[in-house]
Amino acid sequence: MNGRDTRQQDAGELGACRQDGAAWHWSPPPLLYASAAVHLGAAAAALARPRVWPWALCALAANHVALAAAGLWPRSQLLGPNWIRLPTHKGAAARVAITIDDGPDPEVTPQVLAQLAAHRALATFFCVGDRVERHPDLARDIVSRGHTIENHSQRHRHDFSLLGPGSMSAEISRAQDSIQRATGSRPRFFRAPAGLRNPFLDPVLTRLQLRLVSWTRRGFDTVNADADAVYRRLANPLQDGDILLLHDGNAARGRGGKPVILEVLPRLLDAAASSQLRPVTLRSAL
Ligand SMILES: [Zn+2]
Repeated sequence: MNGRDTRQQDAGELGACRQDGAAWHWSPPPLLYASAAVHLGAAAAALARPRVWPWALCALAANHVALAAAGLWPRSQLLGPNWIRLPTHKGAAARVAITIDDGPDPEVTPQVLAQLAAHRALATFFCVGDRVERHPDLARDIVSRGHTIENHSQRHRHDFSLLGPGSMSAEISRAQDSIQRATGSRPRFFRAPAGLRNPFLDPVLTRLQLRLVSWTRRGFDTVNADADAVYRRLANPLQDGDILLLHDGNAARGRGGKPVILEVLPRLLDAAASSQLRPVTLRSAL
């Protein structure tokens, strides 16, 4: 399938299409237009009839609550394009994308790579830039096996969704550079720490030519040590185009201190195989 067809399919499946040939253009999502209209309307009303200023203030407060809620909902499309499933390509084989966050981790990631190799499966690793700098050989090993490393910010700050555009851009750009230095490959996707964001993220990602990705389902495997429960969340039911989220960094520990991902991933790969779903990287879906 050529690039034009792919972009048309992305646009149909995912709403706004931000790539136009080699250039990326940011266009505000409808929610931001609505927000601007609320601000203008509130200002105009308060100027025309000063008595109504408490109502104008309430309208502004409600608007900001709506924007914050959209940012706290990881799968929301309200603040800009956001992959929650793989785009559909007519005639393509059925596939799923397994995405693995918060690494690389020197103890867990090599075992994850061995499990993927045993199943001849590919995955996408959303790595933290600081961790890539600490374990560059491991990052290179991930890429040399055919997997891809994408951007999960430089430091995985828990206040990421509260950052302004300058700090947000710095966090993401630094991770781009860290990952490129270690692996020679520049990320093309971004996932926000904990999936949380604010309206500044979309223009920053457009400028850096990154696509936002969340997930179809996540296992909550950083907090849930019950491998059966994590597996059921992810695999029930597995469908063509699913984007699934697991963690090799910060993994919860199950029986005998074993990271949960190591108990869940082989079962998930077996389930994908028996459903004739091929585990692929996100980039292969571009
Ligand atoms: Zn994370």
